[in-house]
Amino acid sequence: ALRDNTTIIVLGASGDLAKKKTYPALFGLFKMGFLPKDVHIIGYARTKMDEAEAHKRITSYIKVNDDETKEKLEQFKKFTSYVDGAYDQDEPFQKLNKYIEGFESKFSGPGNRLFYLALPPSVFIPVARGLRKNTYGKGINRIVVEKPFGKDTDSYRELASAMKEQWSEDETYRIDHYLGKEMVKNMLVLRFANIALASSWDKNSISNVQITFKEAIGTEGRGGYFDEFGIIRDILQNHLLQVLSVLTMERPVSFSAEDVRDEKVKVLRAIPPIAREDTLLGQYVAANGKPGYLDDETVPPNSPCPTFAATTLWIHNPRWEGVPFILKAGKALNEGKVEIRIQFKDVTQGIFKDIARNELVIRIQPNEAVYLKLNTKMPGLYTRTIPIEMDMTYKRRFSDQKIPEAYESLILDALKGDHSNFVRDDELDVAWKIFTPILHWTEGRDGPAPRPVPYPYGSRGPKELDSFTGKYGYKRVDNSGYSWPVTNLS
Ligand code: NAP
Ligand code: NAP
Repeated sequence: ALRDNTTIIVLGASGDLAKKKTYPALFGLFKMGFLPKDVHIIGYARTKMDEAEAHKRITSYIKVNDDETKEKLEQFKKFTSYVDGAYDQDEPFQKLNKYIEGFESKFSGPGNRLFYLALPPSVFIPVARGLRKNTYGKGINRIVVEKPFGKDTDSYRELASAMKEQWSEDETYRIDHYLGKEMVKNMLVLRFANIALASSWDKNSISNVQITFKEAIGTEGRGGYFDEFGIIRDILQNHLLQVLSVLTMERPVSFSAEDVRDEKVKVLRAIPPIAREDTLLGQYVAANGKPGYLDDETVPPNSPCPTFAATTLWIHNPRWEGVPFILKAGKALNEGKVEIRIQFKDVTQGIFKDIARNELVIRIQPNEAVYLKLNTKMPGLYTRTIPIEMDMTYKRRFSDQKIPEAYESLILDALKGDHSNFVRDDELDVAWKIFTPILHWTEGRDGPAPRPVPYPYGSRGPKELDSFTGKYGYKRVDNSGYSWPVTNLS
Protein backbone atom coordinates (compact mmCIF):
# COMPACT_ATOMS: atom_id res chain seq x y z
CA ALA A 1 0.00 0.00 0.00
CA LEU A 2 0.99 3.60 -0.59
CA ARG A 3 1.30 4.15 3.11
CA ASP A 4 3.79 1.32 3.75
CA ASN A 5 7.48 2.13 4.18
CA THR A 6 6.50 4.91 6.54
CA THR A 7 7.97 6.51 9.63
CA ILE A 8 5.83 8.80 11.77
CA ILE A 9 7.58 11.55 13.69
CA VAL A 10 5.64 13.36 16.42
CA LEU A 11 7.28 16.68 17.25
CA GLY A 12 6.34 18.05 20.66
CA ALA A 13 5.86 14.48 21.89
CA SER A 14 6.27 15.63 25.50
CA GLY A 15 3.17 17.85 25.28
CA ASP A 16 -0.52 17.84 25.91
CA LEU A 17 -1.89 17.22 22.43
CA ALA A 18 0.54 14.36 21.86
CA LYS A 19 -0.51 12.45 24.97
CA LYS A 20 -4.22 13.28 24.79
CA LYS A 21 -4.87 12.89 21.09
CA THR A 22 -1.99 11.98 18.79
CA TYR A 23 -0.65 8.88 20.52
CA PRO A 24 -4.05 7.50 21.56
CA ALA A 25 -5.15 7.87 17.92
CA LEU A 26 -2.00 6.17 16.64
CA PHE A 27 -2.56 3.35 19.10
CA GLY A 28 -6.23 3.12 18.09
CA LEU A 29 -5.21 2.79 14.44
CA PHE A 30 -2.67 0.13 15.33
CA LYS A 31 -5.25 -1.81 17.33
CA MET A 32 -7.68 -1.75 14.40
CA GLY A 33 -4.94 -2.83 12.00
CA PHE A 34 -4.66 0.43 10.09
CA LEU A 35 -1.05 1.40 10.67
CA PRO A 36 1.41 0.80 7.84
CA LYS A 37 3.45 -2.37 7.80
CA ASP A 38 6.83 -2.01 9.60
CA VAL A 39 5.95 1.48 10.82
CA HIS A 40 8.09 3.18 13.42
CA ILE A 41 6.84 6.09 15.52
CA ILE A 42 9.40 8.52 16.82
CA GLY A 43 8.63 11.14 19.44
CA TYR A 44 10.77 14.29 19.43
CA ALA A 45 10.89 17.22 21.89
CA ARG A 46 13.39 19.11 24.00
CA THR A 47 12.54 17.41 27.30
CA LYS A 48 15.12 14.82 28.24
CA MET A 49 13.43 11.53 29.05
CA ASP A 50 14.49 7.92 28.91
CA GLU A 51 12.42 5.51 26.81
CA ALA A 52 10.50 4.22 29.83
CA GLU A 53 9.48 7.67 30.92
CA ALA A 54 8.56 8.71 27.40
CA HIS A 55 6.39 5.61 26.94
CA LYS A 56 4.69 6.22 30.22
CA ARG A 57 3.84 9.75 29.22
CA ILE A 58 2.59 9.06 25.70
CA THR A 59 0.44 6.17 26.78
CA SER A 60 -1.01 7.83 29.86
CA TYR A 61 -4.35 8.58 28.14
CA ILE A 62 -4.74 5.16 26.56
CA LYS A 63 -7.38 3.14 28.37
CA VAL A 64 -6.29 -0.39 29.06
CA ASN A 65 -9.25 -2.39 30.31
CA ASP A 66 -8.77 -5.81 28.78
CA ASP A 67 -5.99 -8.30 28.04
CA GLU A 68 -6.11 -7.74 24.31
CA THR A 69 -5.46 -4.00 24.70
CA LYS A 70 -2.70 -4.73 27.20
CA GLU A 71 -1.05 -7.09 24.75
CA LYS A 72 -1.44 -4.62 21.88
CA LEU A 73 0.07 -1.88 23.97
CA GLU A 74 3.14 -4.05 24.59
CA GLN A 75 3.49 -4.53 20.82
CA PHE A 76 2.93 -0.79 20.25
CA LYS A 77 5.82 0.02 22.56
CA LYS A 78 8.15 -2.05 20.43
CA PHE A 79 7.90 0.32 17.50
CA THR A 80 7.71 3.64 19.33
CA SER A 81 10.74 5.50 20.57
CA TYR A 82 11.78 8.94 21.72
CA VAL A 83 14.57 11.32 20.78
CA ASP A 84 15.27 14.65 22.45
CA GLY A 85 16.48 17.69 20.58
CA ALA A 86 16.05 21.38 19.93
CA TYR A 87 13.68 23.02 17.45
CA ASP A 88 15.93 25.77 16.15
CA GLN A 89 19.22 24.06 15.25
CA ASP A 90 20.29 21.94 12.30
CA GLU A 91 22.40 19.41 14.15
CA PRO A 92 19.66 17.70 16.21
CA PHE A 93 17.46 17.43 13.10
CA GLN A 94 20.36 15.84 11.23
CA LYS A 95 20.74 13.38 14.08
CA LEU A 96 17.02 12.65 13.84
CA ASN A 97 17.45 12.11 10.11
CA LYS A 98 20.17 9.50 10.70
CA TYR A 99 17.99 7.82 13.28
CA ILE A 100 15.07 7.59 10.83
CA GLU A 101 17.38 6.24 8.12
CA GLY A 102 18.22 3.38 10.48
CA PHE A 103 14.59 2.19 10.28
CA GLU A 104 14.26 2.97 6.60
CA SER A 105 17.18 0.75 5.67
CA LYS A 106 14.87 -2.22 6.27
CA PHE A 107 12.21 -0.93 3.85
CA SER A 108 11.76 -2.33 0.37
CA GLY A 109 11.65 1.13 -1.23
CA PRO A 110 12.29 4.79 -0.38
CA GLY A 111 11.05 5.73 3.08
CA ASN A 112 7.99 7.93 3.48
CA ARG A 113 7.84 10.32 6.40
CA LEU A 114 4.88 11.81 8.19
CA PHE A 115 5.83 14.72 10.45
CA TYR A 116 3.17 15.61 13.01
CA LEU A 117 3.67 19.01 14.65
CA ALA A 118 2.13 18.79 18.14
CA LEU A 119 3.82 22.09 18.98
CA PRO A 120 2.87 25.64 19.92
CA PRO A 121 2.62 27.97 16.91
CA SER A 122 5.65 29.98 18.06
CA VAL A 123 7.89 27.17 16.80
CA PHE A 124 5.95 26.10 13.66
CA ILE A 125 8.18 28.02 11.29
CA PRO A 126 11.64 27.09 12.66
CA VAL A 127 10.57 23.44 12.90
CA ALA A 128 9.08 23.39 9.39
CA ARG A 129 12.32 24.93 8.13
CA GLY A 130 14.63 22.64 10.12
CA LEU A 131 12.78 19.52 9.01
CA ARG A 132 12.70 20.54 5.37
CA LYS A 133 16.39 21.31 5.39
CA ASN A 134 17.73 18.43 7.46
CA THR A 135 15.16 15.69 7.83
CA TYR A 136 13.46 15.49 4.46
CA GLY A 137 13.23 11.88 3.28
CA LYS A 138 13.67 10.23 -0.08
CA GLY A 139 10.07 9.04 -0.41
CA ILE A 140 6.89 11.00 0.22
CA ASN A 141 7.11 13.63 2.96
CA ARG A 142 4.07 15.06 4.70
CA ILE A 143 3.61 17.59 7.46
CA VAL A 144 0.58 17.74 9.73
CA VAL A 145 -0.14 20.99 11.58
CA GLU A 146 -2.76 22.10 14.08
CA LYS A 147 -4.49 25.39 14.73
CA PRO A 148 -3.98 28.22 15.51
CA PHE A 149 -3.18 29.23 11.95
CA GLY A 150 -2.58 32.89 12.74
CA LYS A 151 -4.80 35.30 14.64
CA ASP A 152 -6.30 37.31 11.78
CA THR A 153 -5.92 37.74 8.03
CA ASP A 154 -2.50 39.40 8.14
CA SER A 155 -0.87 37.08 10.66
CA TYR A 156 -2.32 34.06 8.85
CA ARG A 157 -0.87 35.19 5.53
CA GLU A 158 2.53 35.74 7.11
CA LEU A 159 2.53 32.25 8.62
CA ALA A 160 1.22 30.67 5.43
CA SER A 161 3.85 32.22 3.22
CA ALA A 162 6.68 31.25 5.60
CA MET A 163 5.38 27.66 5.66
CA LYS A 164 4.99 27.56 1.90
CA GLU A 165 8.63 28.38 1.36
CA GLN A 166 9.39 25.02 2.94
CA TRP A 167 6.45 22.71 2.31
CA SER A 168 4.12 22.55 -0.68
CA GLU A 169 0.35 22.63 -0.28
CA ASP A 170 0.29 19.02 -1.38
CA GLU A 171 2.60 18.02 1.46
CA THR A 172 0.68 20.04 4.07
CA TYR A 173 -2.20 18.68 6.16
CA ARG A 174 -3.91 21.32 8.30
CA ILE A 175 -6.08 19.73 10.96
CA ASP A 176 -9.46 21.04 11.98
CA HIS A 177 -10.48 18.01 13.96
CA TYR A 178 -14.20 18.75 13.45
CA LEU A 179 -13.72 17.54 9.89
CA GLY A 180 -12.75 14.15 11.32
CA LYS A 181 -15.93 13.80 13.36
CA GLU A 182 -18.22 11.07 12.15
CA MET A 183 -21.31 13.24 11.93
CA VAL A 184 -19.54 16.00 10.03
CA LYS A 185 -18.23 13.42 7.57
CA ASN A 186 -21.77 12.12 7.26
CA MET A 187 -22.99 15.51 6.01
CA LEU A 188 -21.95 14.82 2.43
CA VAL A 189 -23.89 11.57 2.40
CA LEU A 190 -26.94 12.87 4.27
CA ARG A 191 -27.21 15.84 1.95
CA PHE A 192 -26.31 14.45 -1.42
CA ALA A 193 -27.45 10.83 -1.21
CA ASN A 194 -30.98 11.67 -0.10
CA ILE A 195 -33.26 13.34 -2.56
CA ALA A 196 -35.87 13.85 0.17
CA LEU A 197 -33.48 16.10 2.07
CA ALA A 198 -31.68 17.56 -0.92
CA SER A 199 -34.85 19.02 -2.40
CA SER A 200 -35.70 21.01 0.71
CA TRP A 201 -32.15 22.19 1.34
CA ASP A 202 -32.50 25.87 0.44
CA LYS A 203 -34.10 29.24 1.15
CA ASN A 204 -37.49 28.05 -0.11
CA SER A 205 -37.91 25.57 2.75
CA ILE A 206 -35.46 26.62 5.45
CA SER A 207 -36.16 29.56 7.76
CA ASN A 208 -32.96 29.63 9.80
CA VAL A 209 -30.05 27.48 10.93
CA GLN A 210 -28.19 27.34 14.22
CA ILE A 211 -24.81 25.70 14.64
CA THR A 212 -24.17 25.43 18.34
CA PHE A 213 -21.23 24.55 20.54
CA LYS A 214 -21.88 24.43 24.27
CA GLU A 215 -19.42 23.54 26.99
CA ALA A 216 -20.47 22.99 30.58
CA ILE A 217 -17.11 24.03 32.05
CA GLY A 218 -15.32 27.35 32.24
CA THR A 219 -11.62 28.03 31.73
CA GLU A 220 -10.81 26.63 35.21
CA GLY A 221 -7.33 28.06 35.67
CA ARG A 222 -6.36 28.02 31.97
CA GLY A 223 -7.95 31.40 31.28
CA GLY A 224 -4.63 33.09 30.62
CA TYR A 225 -4.16 30.94 27.55
CA PHE A 226 -7.78 31.31 26.46
CA ASP A 227 -7.76 35.08 26.87
CA GLU A 228 -5.34 35.48 23.99
CA PHE A 229 -7.81 33.84 21.65
CA GLY A 230 -11.40 34.18 22.88
CA ILE A 231 -14.33 31.99 21.92
CA ILE A 232 -14.69 33.34 18.37
CA ARG A 233 -11.17 32.31 17.39
CA ASP A 234 -11.24 29.17 19.46
CA ILE A 235 -14.49 27.72 18.07
CA LEU A 236 -16.42 29.83 15.56
CA GLN A 237 -13.81 30.88 13.01
CA ASN A 238 -12.58 27.31 12.53
CA HIS A 239 -14.78 24.48 13.81
CA LEU A 240 -18.25 25.98 13.33
CA LEU A 241 -17.38 27.65 10.05
CA GLN A 242 -16.09 24.31 8.73
CA VAL A 243 -19.38 22.70 9.71
CA LEU A 244 -21.23 25.54 7.99
CA SER A 245 -19.30 25.07 4.78
CA VAL A 246 -20.08 21.35 4.46
CA LEU A 247 -23.70 22.07 5.35
CA THR A 248 -24.17 24.70 2.66
CA MET A 249 -21.76 23.94 -0.19
CA GLU A 250 -23.01 22.80 -3.58
CA ARG A 251 -22.68 19.19 -4.61
CA PRO A 252 -19.05 18.46 -5.54
CA VAL A 253 -18.30 16.78 -8.86
CA SER A 254 -16.57 13.94 -7.00
CA PHE A 255 -15.41 12.99 -3.53
CA SER A 256 -11.86 13.95 -4.44
CA ALA A 257 -10.18 16.40 -2.09
CA GLU A 258 -9.91 19.29 -4.51
CA ASP A 259 -13.46 18.93 -5.79
CA VAL A 260 -14.81 19.01 -2.24
CA ARG A 261 -12.60 21.87 -1.14
CA ASP A 262 -13.35 23.92 -4.26
CA GLU A 263 -17.03 23.85 -3.30
CA LYS A 264 -16.29 24.78 0.31
CA VAL A 265 -14.24 27.76 -0.75
CA LYS A 266 -16.91 28.84 -3.21
CA VAL A 267 -19.64 29.00 -0.58
CA LEU A 268 -17.37 30.71 1.95
CA ARG A 269 -16.54 33.38 -0.58
CA ALA A 270 -20.24 34.25 -0.79
CA ILE A 271 -20.23 35.23 2.92
CA PRO A 272 -19.44 38.87 3.72
CA PRO A 273 -17.55 39.80 6.91
CA ILE A 274 -19.78 39.52 9.98
CA ALA A 275 -21.50 42.75 11.00
CA ARG A 276 -21.30 44.06 14.57
CA GLU A 277 -25.09 44.24 14.79
CA ASP A 278 -25.24 40.51 13.96
CA THR A 279 -23.13 39.71 17.00
CA LEU A 280 -23.94 39.00 20.65
CA LEU A 281 -21.03 38.67 23.08
CA GLY A 282 -21.10 37.25 26.58
CA GLN A 283 -18.79 36.52 29.49
CA TYR A 284 -19.68 34.24 32.39
CA VAL A 285 -19.87 35.45 35.95
CA ALA A 286 -19.84 33.55 39.24
CA ALA A 287 -22.97 31.54 40.04
CA ASN A 288 -23.95 28.36 41.89
CA GLY A 289 -20.64 28.29 43.74
CA LYS A 290 -18.66 28.41 40.49
CA PRO A 291 -16.20 31.22 39.77
CA GLY A 292 -16.67 33.78 37.01
CA TYR A 293 -14.23 34.21 34.12
CA LEU A 294 -12.64 37.29 35.69
CA ASP A 295 -12.17 35.38 38.97
CA ASP A 296 -9.69 33.11 37.16
CA GLU A 297 -6.33 34.41 38.39
CA THR A 298 -4.63 33.79 35.07
CA VAL A 299 -7.06 36.17 33.30
CA PRO A 300 -6.02 39.85 32.96
CA PRO A 301 -8.16 42.10 35.19
CA ASN A 302 -11.30 43.41 33.52
CA SER A 303 -10.56 41.47 30.31
CA PRO A 304 -13.18 42.10 27.59
CA CYS A 305 -12.58 38.61 26.16
CA PRO A 306 -15.87 36.92 25.16
CA THR A 307 -16.48 33.42 26.53
CA PHE A 308 -19.77 33.30 24.62
CA ALA A 309 -20.54 34.55 21.13
CA ALA A 310 -23.49 34.29 18.77
CA THR A 311 -22.97 35.64 15.26
CA THR A 312 -25.22 35.56 12.23
CA LEU A 313 -23.72 34.89 8.81
CA TRP A 314 -25.40 35.44 5.44
CA ILE A 315 -24.64 33.60 2.24
CA HIS A 316 -25.20 35.61 -0.90
CA ASN A 317 -25.92 32.95 -3.45
CA PRO A 318 -29.15 31.79 -5.08
CA ARG A 319 -29.58 28.82 -2.75
CA TRP A 320 -29.19 30.68 0.53
CA GLU A 321 -29.99 34.35 0.00
CA GLY A 322 -31.83 35.65 3.08
CA VAL A 323 -31.34 32.58 5.31
CA PRO A 324 -29.64 33.48 8.62
CA PHE A 325 -26.94 31.08 9.82
CA ILE A 326 -26.43 31.59 13.52
CA LEU A 327 -23.10 30.29 14.84
CA LYS A 328 -23.03 30.23 18.61
CA ALA A 329 -20.54 28.93 21.15
CA GLY A 330 -19.98 29.33 24.84
CA LYS A 331 -18.19 28.09 27.91
CA ALA A 332 -19.64 27.52 31.38
CA LEU A 333 -23.15 26.85 30.06
CA ASN A 334 -25.93 24.54 31.25
CA GLU A 335 -24.80 21.56 29.14
CA GLY A 336 -22.15 20.32 26.75
CA LYS A 337 -23.22 19.65 23.16
CA VAL A 338 -22.49 20.40 19.53
CA GLU A 339 -25.41 20.38 17.13
CA ILE A 340 -26.82 21.75 13.90
CA ARG A 341 -30.47 22.79 14.13
CA ILE A 342 -32.17 23.47 10.83
CA GLN A 343 -35.56 25.08 11.27
CA PHE A 344 -37.96 24.90 8.35
CA LYS A 345 -40.52 27.55 7.44
CA ASP A 346 -44.10 27.66 8.66
CA VAL A 347 -46.57 25.50 6.84
CA THR A 348 -49.17 27.54 4.94
CA GLN A 349 -51.93 28.60 7.32
CA GLY A 350 -55.52 27.65 6.57
CA ILE A 351 -56.33 24.18 7.71
CA PHE A 352 -53.70 24.51 10.46
CA LYS A 353 -52.92 27.26 12.85
CA ASP A 354 -50.06 27.58 15.33
CA ILE A 355 -48.60 24.34 14.20
CA ALA A 356 -44.99 23.56 15.17
CA ARG A 357 -42.26 24.06 12.60
CA ASN A 358 -40.25 21.11 11.37
CA GLU A 359 -36.70 20.94 12.60
CA LEU A 360 -33.87 18.71 11.54
CA VAL A 361 -31.32 18.33 14.31
CA ILE A 362 -27.91 16.83 13.67
CA ARG A 363 -26.22 16.09 16.96
CA ILE A 364 -22.48 16.03 16.43
CA GLN A 365 -21.64 15.27 20.06
CA PRO A 366 -22.19 13.72 22.50
CA ASN A 367 -24.39 10.79 21.42
CA GLU A 368 -24.45 11.27 17.68
CA ALA A 369 -27.99 11.47 16.34
CA VAL A 370 -30.09 12.83 13.54
CA TYR A 371 -33.71 13.62 14.35
CA LEU A 372 -36.42 15.25 12.38
CA LYS A 373 -39.22 16.97 14.23
CA LEU A 374 -42.47 16.45 12.37
CA ASN A 375 -46.18 16.90 13.09
CA THR A 376 -48.39 13.89 13.24
CA LYS A 377 -51.99 13.10 14.04
CA MET A 378 -52.51 12.22 17.66
CA PRO A 379 -53.81 8.61 17.57
CA GLY A 380 -57.43 8.39 18.59
CA LEU A 381 -60.95 9.15 17.53
CA TYR A 382 -60.42 12.90 17.46
CA THR A 383 -58.29 14.89 15.03
CA ARG A 384 -55.45 16.63 16.76
CA THR A 385 -51.83 17.16 15.74
CA ILE A 386 -48.80 16.57 17.86
CA PRO A 387 -45.12 17.20 17.17
CA ILE A 388 -43.01 14.04 17.26
CA GLU A 389 -39.56 13.17 16.10
CA MET A 390 -38.17 10.63 13.67
CA ASP A 391 -35.10 9.57 15.45
CA MET A 392 -31.86 8.07 14.25
CA THR A 393 -29.72 7.78 17.34
CA TYR A 394 -26.43 6.14 16.43
CA LYS A 395 -26.09 4.10 19.61
CA ARG A 396 -29.41 2.44 18.90
CA ARG A 397 -29.17 2.09 15.11
CA PHE A 398 -25.50 1.16 14.94
CA SER A 399 -25.12 -0.55 18.28
CA ASP A 400 -22.24 -2.78 17.12
CA GLN A 401 -20.19 -0.13 15.38
CA LYS A 402 -17.41 1.78 17.04
CA ILE A 403 -17.42 5.42 16.05
CA PRO A 404 -13.80 6.36 15.34
CA GLU A 405 -12.12 9.24 17.09
CA ALA A 406 -11.69 12.29 14.87
CA TYR A 407 -7.91 12.06 15.18
CA GLU A 408 -7.87 8.38 14.18
CA SER A 409 -9.76 9.19 11.05
CA LEU A 410 -7.60 12.20 10.19
CA ILE A 411 -4.23 10.54 10.80
CA LEU A 412 -5.32 7.64 8.61
CA ASP A 413 -6.29 10.11 5.86
CA ALA A 414 -2.89 11.80 6.13
CA LEU A 415 -1.16 8.42 5.85
CA LYS A 416 -3.22 7.70 2.74
CA GLY A 417 -2.53 11.13 1.29
CA ASP A 418 -6.21 12.11 1.25
CA HIS A 419 -6.64 15.86 1.79
CA SER A 420 -10.47 15.96 1.72
CA ASN A 421 -10.83 16.47 5.45
CA PHE A 422 -7.97 18.92 5.87
CA VAL A 423 -8.21 22.68 5.47
CA ARG A 424 -6.77 24.19 2.31
CA ASP A 425 -4.84 27.46 2.36
CA ASP A 426 -7.46 29.47 0.45
CA GLU A 427 -10.23 28.18 2.76
CA LEU A 428 -8.40 29.66 5.71
CA ASP A 429 -7.83 32.91 3.92
CA VAL A 430 -11.59 33.35 3.34
CA ALA A 431 -12.38 32.19 6.87
CA TRP A 432 -10.15 34.93 8.28
CA LYS A 433 -11.68 37.55 6.00
CA ILE A 434 -15.13 36.74 7.40
CA PHE A 435 -14.01 36.99 11.02
CA THR A 436 -11.15 39.50 11.15
CA PRO A 437 -13.31 42.68 11.40
CA ILE A 438 -15.34 41.50 14.41
CA LEU A 439 -12.23 40.05 16.05
CA HIS A 440 -10.46 43.38 15.80
CA TRP A 441 -13.56 45.11 17.12
CA THR A 442 -13.90 42.78 20.14
CA GLU A 443 -10.23 43.32 20.91
CA GLY A 444 -10.58 47.07 20.93
CA ARG A 445 -8.35 47.63 17.92
CA ASP A 446 -10.84 50.01 16.29
CA GLY A 447 -11.85 51.95 19.39
CA PRO A 448 -12.93 50.82 22.84
CA ALA A 449 -13.56 47.09 23.10
CA PRO A 450 -17.25 46.22 23.52
CA ARG A 451 -18.11 44.90 26.97
CA PRO A 452 -19.54 41.36 26.75
CA VAL A 453 -22.90 40.80 28.44
CA PRO A 454 -22.54 38.89 31.73
CA TYR A 455 -24.26 35.50 32.06
CA PRO A 456 -24.29 33.21 35.09
CA TYR A 457 -22.07 30.11 35.10
CA GLY A 458 -24.31 27.16 34.26
CA SER A 459 -26.98 29.12 32.37
CA ARG A 460 -27.91 28.87 28.65
CA GLY A 461 -25.93 32.06 27.96
CA PRO A 462 -26.81 35.77 28.02
CA LYS A 463 -30.51 36.41 28.60
CA GLU A 464 -30.48 38.39 25.34
CA LEU A 465 -29.87 35.14 23.43
CA ASP A 466 -33.51 34.22 22.86
CA SER A 467 -34.42 37.63 21.48
CA PHE A 468 -31.25 37.45 19.34
CA THR A 469 -32.25 34.15 17.72
CA GLY A 470 -35.86 35.38 17.57
CA LYS A 471 -34.72 38.40 15.57
CA TYR A 472 -33.56 36.00 12.84
CA GLY A 473 -36.83 34.12 12.78
CA TYR A 474 -36.18 31.21 15.14
CA LYS A 475 -39.43 30.12 16.77
CA ARG A 476 -38.98 27.71 19.62
CA VAL A 477 -41.48 24.92 19.93
CA ASP A 478 -42.32 24.91 23.60
CA ASN A 479 -42.15 21.30 24.64
CA SER A 480 -41.25 21.65 28.29
CA GLY A 481 -40.75 18.17 29.72
CA TYR A 482 -41.42 16.88 26.23
CA SER A 483 -45.14 16.90 26.66
CA TRP A 484 -45.63 18.84 23.48
CA PRO A 485 -48.57 21.23 23.35
CA VAL A 486 -51.34 19.76 21.25
CA THR A 487 -52.86 21.99 18.58
CA ASN A 488 -56.38 21.74 17.25
CA LEU A 489 -57.22 21.54 13.59
CA SER A 490 -59.44 24.44 12.67
P1 NAP B 1 2.03 22.18 24.59
O1 NAP B 1 1.80 20.98 25.43
O2 NAP B 1 2.09 23.50 25.24
O3 NAP B 1 3.39 22.06 23.76
C1 NAP B 1 3.86 20.84 23.17
C2 NAP B 1 5.37 20.73 23.40
O4 NAP B 1 6.01 21.80 22.74
C3 NAP B 1 5.76 20.85 24.84
O5 NAP B 1 5.72 19.61 25.49
C4 NAP B 1 7.14 21.43 24.75
O6 NAP B 1 8.05 20.36 24.54
C5 NAP B 1 7.11 22.24 23.50
N1 NAP B 1 6.94 23.66 23.82
C6 NAP B 1 6.01 24.24 24.59
N2 NAP B 1 6.16 25.57 24.64
C7 NAP B 1 7.23 25.85 23.89
C8 NAP B 1 7.88 27.05 23.54
N3 NAP B 1 7.44 28.23 23.98
N4 NAP B 1 8.94 26.98 22.74
C9 NAP B 1 9.37 25.80 22.28
N5 NAP B 1 8.78 24.62 22.59
C10 NAP B 1 7.73 24.65 23.37
O7 NAP B 1 0.98 22.28 23.42
P2 NAP B 1 -0.22 21.30 23.04
O8 NAP B 1 -1.36 21.57 23.93
O9 NAP B 1 0.29 19.92 22.96
O10 NAP B 1 -0.62 21.84 21.61
C11 NAP B 1 0.15 21.65 20.42
C12 NAP B 1 -0.57 22.27 19.26
O11 NAP B 1 -1.83 21.66 19.09
C13 NAP B 1 -0.88 23.75 19.44
O12 NAP B 1 -0.81 24.35 18.17
C14 NAP B 1 -2.29 23.75 19.95
O13 NAP B 1 -2.95 24.95 19.68
C15 NAP B 1 -2.87 22.61 19.18
N6 NAP B 1 -4.02 21.97 19.80
C16 NAP B 1 -3.94 21.41 21.05
C17 NAP B 1 -5.02 20.72 21.58
C18 NAP B 1 -4.92 20.03 22.94
O14 NAP B 1 -5.81 19.28 23.27
N7 NAP B 1 -3.90 20.27 23.73
C19 NAP B 1 -6.20 20.64 20.87
C20 NAP B 1 -6.27 21.23 19.60
C21 NAP B 1 -5.17 21.88 19.07
P3 NAP B 1 9.57 20.41 24.98
O15 NAP B 1 9.73 21.50 25.97
O16 NAP B 1 9.83 19.05 25.52
O17 NAP B 1 10.28 20.66 23.72
P1 NAP C 1 -35.76 21.05 22.75
O1 NAP C 1 -35.48 21.23 24.18
O2 NAP C 1 -37.13 20.98 22.28
O3 NAP C 1 -35.11 22.25 21.94
C1 NAP C 1 -33.83 22.63 22.13
C2 NAP C 1 -33.70 23.99 21.47
O4 NAP C 1 -34.46 24.96 22.16
C3 NAP C 1 -32.29 24.48 21.47
O5 NAP C 1 -32.13 25.29 20.32
C4 NAP C 1 -32.22 25.31 22.72
O6 NAP C 1 -31.27 26.34 22.61
C5 NAP C 1 -33.60 25.90 22.80
N1 NAP C 1 -34.03 26.06 24.17
C6 NAP C 1 -33.84 25.21 25.20
N2 NAP C 1 -34.38 25.69 26.33
C7 NAP C 1 -34.94 26.88 26.01
C8 NAP C 1 -35.65 27.86 26.73
N3 NAP C 1 -35.89 27.70 28.03
N4 NAP C 1 -36.04 28.94 26.07
C9 NAP C 1 -35.80 29.10 24.77
N5 NAP C 1 -35.14 28.21 24.04
C10 NAP C 1 -34.71 27.11 24.64
O7 NAP C 1 -34.94 19.77 22.34
P2 NAP C 1 -34.71 19.12 20.91
O8 NAP C 1 -33.26 18.97 20.75
O9 NAP C 1 -35.47 19.86 19.87
O10 NAP C 1 -35.29 17.67 21.07
C11 NAP C 1 -36.69 17.42 21.18
C12 NAP C 1 -36.85 16.15 21.94
O11 NAP C 1 -36.31 15.06 21.22
C13 NAP C 1 -36.12 16.16 23.28
O12 NAP C 1 -36.95 15.55 24.23
C14 NAP C 1 -34.90 15.29 23.00
O13 NAP C 1 -34.42 14.69 24.18
C15 NAP C 1 -35.49 14.28 22.06
N6 NAP C 1 -34.53 13.55 21.24
C16 NAP C 1 -33.21 13.44 21.52
C17 NAP C 1 -32.38 12.67 20.72
C18 NAP C 1 -30.95 12.52 21.04
O14 NAP C 1 -30.33 13.38 21.60
N7 NAP C 1 -30.34 11.39 20.69
C19 NAP C 1 -32.88 12.05 19.62
C20 NAP C 1 -34.19 12.21 19.34
C21 NAP C 1 -35.02 12.94 20.16
P3 NAP C 1 -29.75 26.17 23.12
O15 NAP C 1 -29.21 25.02 22.36
O16 NAP C 1 -29.13 27.48 22.79
O17 NAP C 1 -29.79 25.93 24.60
